Amino acid sequence: MTEVDEFDAAFFRHWLTRAAAVVDREAEHLTELDSAIGDADHGANLKRGFAAVKDVLEKDPPETPGAVLVAAGRQLISTVGGASSPLYGTLLRRTGKALGDGSSVTREELATALAAGVAAVAQLGGAQVGDKTMLDALTPAAEALGGSFAAARDAAERGALATVPLQARKGRASYLGERSIGHQDPGATSSALLIAALAEVAAA
Ligand code: ADP
Ligand code: MG
Repeated sequence: MTEVDEFDAAFFRHWLTRAAAVVDREAEHLTELDSAIGDADHGANLKRGFAAVKDVLEKDPPETPGAVLVAAGRQLISTVGGASSPLYGTLLRRTGKALGDGSSVTREELATALAAGVAAVAQLGGAQVGDKTMLDALTPAAEALGGSFAAARDAAERGALATVPLQARKGRASYLGERSIGHQDPGATSSALLIAALAEVAAA
C-alpha cells in the first residue's frame, strides 16, 4: 500500500477515534491482564479516557495535528482513572507540542515528536525499557516509526509480548515482585493497540 507523505489534523482525529473504538473493543482483555498483576481497571480507565477524547475532538475539532494531540492529551490528563491516564495524556500532549503548529506533518516528523512524547512519559513515571511498563512497547515503536508505520506496529507488538518474562519494577505490578513474572503488562498491551490503530489508519 502506498503511504501518503503528509498527515493532517483529520488523520490524527481519525487515529484517535479508531483508538477509542479499539480500546472499547479490547477493554475486557486489558482489564483481564490488569487483574493478574494490578487492580483490574486498565480497560475501564482507557475506555473512559478515550471516549472522552473522542467526544472532545468531535465537539471542537482542532485544526492542526499538534492541536489534536494536545487537546487529546489534556483530556486524558483531566479524566480521572489510574496511573495510565496521566502517562498517556503526557505522551499525547508532549508529542503534540513537539509537532508544532503546521497544518500537516511527515511520518519522520511524527517519529521525532513521538520520541519526545515517550521521553516525557519516562520522565514522569521514572521508568525505563525493561521495567515492564508501556515504555516497553512505546520506545521501540517510536524508534521504528522512522522506518514505517507497519514497523512501528510490529515493534510495539513485540515489545508488549516481551514484557511477559519480565519482573515489574514500576507501577502497581511492582508490588508483586517476582509474582509479576509470566504476565503481559496491560499498559504495554494497550500501547501496542494504539500504535496498531495508527498503522491501520495510515494504511487506509
Ligand atoms: P493503575 O496501575 O493506577 O491501576 P492502570 O491500570 O490504568 O493504572 O495502568 C497500568 C499500566 O500503567 C501498567 O500496566 C503500566 O504499563 C503503566 N504504568 C504504571 N506505572 C508506570 C510508570 N511509572 N511508568 C510507565 N508506565 C507505567
Ligand atoms: Mg490498574
